[in-house]
Amino acid sequence: MATITAGELRAMGETQTLEFKRSLSLMREGFESLCAMVNSNEARGVVGFGVEPDGTIVGLGATNLDSAQQSLANHATQKFDPRLQPTIQAFQCEGLPVLVMSAARARGTPYHEYDGRAFIRVGSVTRQLQLTEKQQLSLSRNRDTHNGPWRCDKCGAFAGMVSSVAITAAGPRKVYTHSCGGEWWPAT
Ligand SMILES: [Zn+2]
Repeated sequence: MATITAGELRAMGETQTLEFKRSLSLMREGFESLCAMVNSNEARGVVGFGVEPDGTIVGLGATNLDSAQQSLANHATQKFDPRLQPTIQAFQCEGLPVLVMSAARARGTPYHEYDGRAFIRVGSVTRQLQLTEKQQLSLSRNRDTHNGPWRCDKCGAFAGMVSSVAITAAGPRKVYTHSCGGEWWPAT
């Protein structure tokens, strides 16, 4: 098993994108936090199991890490919609076993729901998204309905609106490619 120091573990995320859970009995809360972090603008999150919220390594005791990894992966497959498959890694940290799960939201996905509910992170607090907020995210993160401003994912250029429109058999289509080879995405 790979080893990791407590400092390296903390460096895997920042306040907005990292949360620790003391044990796997808090799996559900861990997944809700992961859901909230990927739904935030950072679009990624890391949850460490076997670590106190203050970063103290407590380990996962005699847990069978292989089967725990598998059950976390299966749980994610069943509960996230759209599908979100976290990477789940086992480490030895300060001589104790910990599990780290990390995931990122694809930019074309406005938000993920976990077990029928969407969560969001505000500061270090995880809360449920209201229907109007979900509708707002669907609009603001949807390239076809977004009116700008836009930012290129390659060169970082800003644009007020997407100026390229291609005429296709299905009608006019916005074009999202920038001359640098990057793509325009909502800059929010
Ligand atoms: Zn560009």
